[in-house]
Amino acid sequence: MSPVYAIANQKGGVGKTTTTVNVAACIAEAGYDTLLVDIDPQANATVALGLPKDGEPNVYTVLSGDAAAEDAVVPTAVDRLQVLPSSPDLAGANVELPRQPGSERRLRDALAPIRDRFAYTLLDCPPSLGPLTVNALVAADRVIVPVQTEYFALEGLAGLLDTLALIQRELNPRLTVAGMLLTMHDGRTRLARDVEREVREHFPSLVFDTVIPRNVRISEAPSYGRPVTHYDPQCAGADAYFELAKEVAARG
Ligand code: ADP
Ligand code: MG
Repeated sequence: MSPVYAIANQKGGVGKTTTTVNVAACIAEAGYDTLLVDIDPQANATVALGLPKDGEPNVYTVLSGDAAAEDAVVPTAVDRLQVLPSSPDLAGANVELPRQPGSERRLRDALAPIRDRFAYTLLDCPPSLGPLTVNALVAADRVIVPVQTEYFALEGLAGLLDTLALIQRELNPRLTVAGMLLTMHDGRTRLARDVEREVREHFPSLVFDTVIPRNVRISEAPSYGRPVTHYDPQCAGADAYFELAKEVAARG
């Protein structure tokens, strides 16, 4: 079966959405049909790909059983990249899902009929370990954990790995960690270099070789509704995401 990746970290602003959008775009540009599922009520990935965040059907109507995933998937400006968009209504699922037994499997079941249409599926998670992230981790085979190279970077990572182990044990035995990704790295600062060394020492085999630099083009691209690889394919940020996509594919 084609792999499903969740991009998860309970911290906000660490580069989850940026990584999901840009890795998905790189894989699609390499010629593989790719699906991005936006499972964050903030709908940042949806908007970053140029789509409205109040369209229907969307991931909320799919999780509620009111729409089929195949009817909710829409094309983007990037060839071969399709998106299952989010909507602010999805916040309601945080309250509704826990009341329904077995609801951890909603997303996995909803995606089952379409996942093999895509070579890769990427799930952009919200900044919490709540019911939506749990749904993503049950639907996923692998997790990519973006880590911002700043002070406190390690804080929360041990807890996140414990949660992943719990989900693997209780709900999804297939789940593995694809890798940790250092993001927004400013190689000119001593702090960033120290944090990189510390994270690599703590998790020797888990951290991707590729490091995503802090790059203004990366932060500008979403306001044009495009991945950085379309907005400025020559910039350092686009290069890094191309390298990362190769590394993710090679780790299998
Ligand atoms: P998350 O999804 O984890 O909350 P985002 O991907 O939305 O994080 O990133 C948070 C903010 O940082 C956004 O404004 C984004 O544009 C910016 N950003 C992310 N990665 C980079 C980068 N490598 N260089 C510069 N800005 C970045
Ligand atoms: Mg996000």
